[in-house]
Amino acid sequence: MTTDLSPGGRLDRALASLRGLSVGDALGSQFFVPVNHPLLKRRELPPAPWQWTDDTEMACSVVAVLAAHERIDQDALARSFAERHDFDRGYGPAVNRLLRLVREGGDWRELAAALFDGRGSWGNGAAMRIAPLGAWYADDPEQATHQAEISAYPTHQHREAVVGAMAVAAAAALAGAPGGPPGAEALLDGVIALVPARSAVGAGLRRARDMLDYGDAATVAAVLGCGRRTTAHDTVPFALWAAARGLGDYESAFWTTAQVGGDVDTTCAIVGGVLAAGEAGAPPAAWVRRTEALPSWVPVPV
Ligand SMILES: [Mg+2]
Repeated sequence: MTTDLSPGGRLDRALASLRGLSVGDALGSQFFVPVNHPLLKRRELPPAPWQWTDDTEMACSVVAVLAAHERIDQDALARSFAERHDFDRGYGPAVNRLLRLVREGGDWRELAAALFDGRGSWGNGAAMRIAPLGAWYADDPEQATHQAEISAYPTHQHREAVVGAMAVAAAAALAGAPGGPPGAEALLDGVIALVPARSAVGAGLRRARDMLDYGDAATVAAVLGCGRRTTAHDTVPFALWAAARGLGDYESAFWTTAQVGGDVDTTCAIVGGVLAAGEAGAPPAAWVRRTEALPSWVPVPV
C-alpha cells in the first residue's frame, strides 16, 4: 500500500481524522451531562444531534492552515484560532481570554508566554486538536512531531503541553502510515521514540506502554490519569493507551475511553482522531450522521 502524498491526498487523510476527532468530541461531551451516565454504562447512544466543542473547533483551524500553507504557519494558526473562537464551545478560561485578546490585536507570542505566571499553559488543548496533523504527515512521523511542536506555541507554551501535542501527532502519523496501523506495542514504542523522554508526558507514555496488557481501563486511568486535571500529562498517556489498545475498532475504543470519565470530550477526541487517521479506524457512519456537521469554512478536497 502506498500513501498519497499530494496535497489532496494529505487533506483527505486529515479530514478523515478530523471527522473521527469530532465524533469522539461530540459524543464524549454528551457524557458530561449527568443524565446521560446510565446510557454510558449500557453503551447506548444519547439522542442526536451531538454538538462538538473546542477540541473540534481548534482542530478545524489546524486543518485549514495545513490546507492553505502545507505546513504549520504559527501566525495564521493563531489568527484562525482567534477568528473562529466561539465562546460557547467549552474553552478553558485562560484560552478564552487569550483568544479574545489576540482577536483584538494582541501578540500571541507575548500573551501565550505570559499565561500562568509566565510558565505557559500545560493544559491538554494543544494535544486535543492535533491528530489531523499527524494524519496529514502519515508518511513522515518525524515531521508530524516537529510540526505539532510548532503548532502548540500560539496557545500552549509549557513543555508538557508541547510534548503532549507531539505525542498525539506522532501517534496519528504512525496509525495512518501505509500498510495500516502498527500493533499496540509498536505504536507506543514509536511515539516514545519520537518525543522528548525528559517530560511527565514521556514518563506517562512509558508507563502506558508497560500497562498494555491490563484489561481494565479504569485501573489504567487511575494510574495514568484521564484528564480530570485537564493537563497534558494527565490526559495524553491514557488517551494513547486507549488508542493503541483500540486500533482499528473505533466503537469499542470510544466506549472504553468514555467509561472511565475524566475530560471525556478531549480523551475521546484524541482517541477518535488517532484511530480515524488509519483506514480501518473510521467512526461508524451512523455516529457521523448524529454528529453536528463540521463548519462550512473547513476546506474540502477539490
Ligand atoms: Mg472540549
